[in-house]
Amino acid sequence: MAQYPQSPTMGQMMDRPLLISSIIEHADRYFGSNEIVSRRVEGDIHRYTYRDCHKRARQLANALAGLGVKMGERVGTIAWNGYRHMEAYYAISGSGAVLHTINPRLHPEQVAYIANHAEDQYILFDMTFLPLVEAFASHCNTVKGFILMGDRDRMPATTTIPNLMCYEDLIAANSAEFEWPLFDENAASSLCYTSGTTGNPKGALYSHRSTVLHSYASAMPDSLNVSARDTVLPVVPMFHVNAWGLPYSVPLTGAKMVFPGPALDGKSIYDLFEAEQVTFSAGVPTVWLGLLTYMAQNELKFSSFKRTVIGGSACPPAMMRAFRQQHGVEVVHAWGMTEMSPLGTCGTLQTKHLGLSEEGQMAVLAKQGHAIFGVDMKIVDDAGVELPWDGSTYGNLLVRGPWIISSYFKNEGGDVLVDGWFPTGDVATIDADGYMQITDRSKDVIKSGGEWIGTIDLENIAMAHPAVLQAACIGVFHPKWDERPLLLVVKKTGADVTKEALLAFYEGKIAKWWTPDDIAFIDALPVGATGKILKNKLREQFKDHVLPTA
Ligand code: ADP
Repeated sequence: MAQYPQSPTMGQMMDRPLLISSIIEHADRYFGSNEIVSRRVEGDIHRYTYRDCHKRARQLANALAGLGVKMGERVGTIAWNGYRHMEAYYAISGSGAVLHTINPRLHPEQVAYIANHAEDQYILFDMTFLPLVEAFASHCNTVKGFILMGDRDRMPATTTIPNLMCYEDLIAANSAEFEWPLFDENAASSLCYTSGTTGNPKGALYSHRSTVLHSYASAMPDSLNVSARDTVLPVVPMFHVNAWGLPYSVPLTGAKMVFPGPALDGKSIYDLFEAEQVTFSAGVPTVWLGLLTYMAQNELKFSSFKRTVIGGSACPPAMMRAFRQQHGVEVVHAWGMTEMSPLGTCGTLQTKHLGLSEEGQMAVLAKQGHAIFGVDMKIVDDAGVELPWDGSTYGNLLVRGPWIISSYFKNEGGDVLVDGWFPTGDVATIDADGYMQITDRSKDVIKSGGEWIGTIDLENIAMAHPAVLQAACIGVFHPKWDERPLLLVVKKTGADVTKEALLAFYEGKIAKWWTPDDIAFIDALPVGATGKILKNKLREQFKDHVLPTA
């Protein structure tokens, strides 16, 4: 970690470390009766308060201490968004151990690799994942025991899982007398592995300080804008990048929390939104697509939902329009990465934009937005030379800030920073007002005759067509131009469009040479563990595709 010079005149403020435990303590003391509502894996709705959550987190902290978990040791979780997972978040990190959230959508072999790499001491899991745990448990080298997050009556009669314990028994057997320890705020708090589309997954190791700072910054009005008057439903999973920090920023502000558990289909989400009067939510575009489709099919409206943050992949303007214009829901387009805790930018309007037409405002909001305070960004060319902020010059996007990794866990991958900046692997423009727009991931950019074609624009245009549900664009081999765009399209149920009509839809919307050379209609797009379309799979699937112009 960088050391900075000390001034002879240091400030005289209290040196209270920024610790995660202080968030749940604050929620208990000041918002103790505010609710946490969870749709459980058991199928029912569970309700309790921040005070109850804090109490059970302390009981769990005592249980972990009793099991011999020490400061700095990793404890894994494989769980949906729910109250027990929240208790684990605070019990593990709060007691000085490291919460290692594991993505259950990974292959059992990858889970075992991650658990071994992290040297997890215990793994807590929701009963949904019993078969997954049975599949990898015997491959774990460091795990001393597994804890099923449920009541005794949910424990399997027989299992191959070694030292399987019952979560509710552990809670019941332990007292709530527990003082959260004070320690250096730079201590590791949680660990999340990137999904590793290429090579082995690498761990981003967050600290208490980075997490608390990220929580402050992400709650601000032009970030996620969470307050004590909100009811927040995180659709983004707690098993990946800490649900974009919501398990911290929501109790910090005192908002009511609603956890969706495993039911992430349009109907279940809609029903929970209405039953709990949710005002704010956050998720990736694929989940919102499910919700919007369900609502359109059933002609439904929201009665309380006001604002949503969409990120993880580019939010198509057509989706933003559907939320804004059909449902009166404000959309904040956000960008970030596992390596960035994750929030980097959020797209919101400034006073000077308020007089713009709807389309003028949409042009601002479609971008990934402004750096939230704490994050700094720049774009550079391949030689590392900084590029202008003119909204059209695109380059490699680099970032720095106190909640951005300086290296991966166990220094996997070696030095990752370039002159103190983290290279994101994204290609972007930044305009004169500082609004960043992602053109593409650098590995997805189509290189056509020495020029670059960004795929996000091409996909967004297709998705604005009324017959298109989803679109993904990839580069395929072309004898003259090296690569040309092939558009893969999933049509909406009951809707139709021809290749020619969809290609004609591009006219006037984009430089002619960017227009896809071909379109293939397919039934579904492959989606990875974090809800992103797997373009490497599509490239593999269509590697022999012959373009009509080739
Ligand atoms: P993974 O979950 O696959 O490990 P991350 O969640 O860290 O990866 O994904 C980060 C990447 O997702 C970014 O580098 C960027 O390419 C993409 N991404 C995230 N948000 C957006 C967005 N709003 N628009 C476009 N791309 C995005």
